[in-house]
Amino acid sequence: MNDGAVLHIKGRVLVGPEDVRDELWVVDGRVTYDRPAGAAAADVRTVSGWVLPGLVDAHCHVGLDAHGAVDEATSEKQALTDRDTGTLLIRDAGSAADTRWIDDREDLPRIIRAGRHIARTRRYIRNYAHEIEPEVLAEYVTAEARRGDGWVKLVGDWIDRDRGDLAACWPADALRAAIAAAHAEGARVTAHCFAAESLPDLLAAGIDCVEHATGLTEELIPQFAERGVAIVPTLVNIATFPALADGGEAKFPAWSAHMRRLHERRYDTVGAANDAGVPIFVGTDAGGSLAHGLVADEVAELVKAGLTPTAALSAASWGARAWLGRDGLSEGASADLVVYASDPRADVRVLADPQLVVLRGRPVG
Ligand SMILES: [Zn+2]
Repeated sequence: MNDGAVLHIKGRVLVGPEDVRDELWVVDGRVTYDRPAGAAAADVRTVSGWVLPGLVDAHCHVGLDAHGAVDEATSEKQALTDRDTGTLLIRDAGSAADTRWIDDREDLPRIIRAGRHIARTRRYIRNYAHEIEPEVLAEYVTAEARRGDGWVKLVGDWIDRDRGDLAACWPADALRAAIAAAHAEGARVTAHCFAAESLPDLLAAGIDCVEHATGLTEELIPQFAERGVAIVPTLVNIATFPALADGGEAKFPAWSAHMRRLHERRYDTVGAANDAGVPIFVGTDAGGSLAHGLVADEVAELVKAGLTPTAALSAASWGARAWLGRDGLSEGASADLVVYASDPRADVRVLADPQLVVLRGRPVG
């Protein structure tokens, strides 16, 4: 806190999966493990519990709803919902709204932006993306890399209405040039991919991460592991595939069948990727058709897919923060943390009920 008051958290501070300490102090908005000298007892608020670094939603959209960009009041509500469920760091996986104003708000989560989605013409949800052709892909990627916070988001596959099924959106040479352009700007690239088809070209082009990744196969998984290409499965979103398939059945039966197959093997896919050592992170895909604040549900889904509770927690906390280049609970870090009543490593369902959320040293929510 920045008003002279000191927060003292006693219990079990999960600095890392194996690094557990007994207490932590928040002084001037920062984490310290040294008891502050001269803090009068009256100025110290003591809280007990299990402490995690602020949770990470690595696939979230602030400023977006099912129809496209939303106004600032709606964006604020989305960010507050995320915050109050303990999500204090968001990797925004594409937004049509300019949410840069959120960076000036001490009470709202930190956002790492991927700019606006880049999709092939008429090959994505209406009003979301820059819809372009391959000749200008690298140019758009450069522009979004400069607008964002170190990430660029491509739509790698989508339904091809002529084919009546999912199909890759970009030729291999355009992807190579585009990903090289992003890397030249110091940005990483991720892509929305449901099917397997788009993955080999994206891998060959040097992609850094794949969203959803339901199309991962036995042949592709070792290549992802070897290259360290991360996946953000968004299983709470994949759960909507059967309903999407029902809706598209009459017009696109092959697409519907494909979506059902991807859905049926979703846990096996994520489990096999995890077994092979593919980095996996928690993302909810909130903001399109899904509600904000589902981070606890997604962690539980990853456990269902075969991650240990500690690995699933790491995918939303220690591991995710390291992957995004942000501090956890190290000495001097901004005090972005969540306190729970019991050990989340024993049962991840406790994430649904945070006792206290602290952002930039201030209790919020
Ligand atoms: Zn998304």
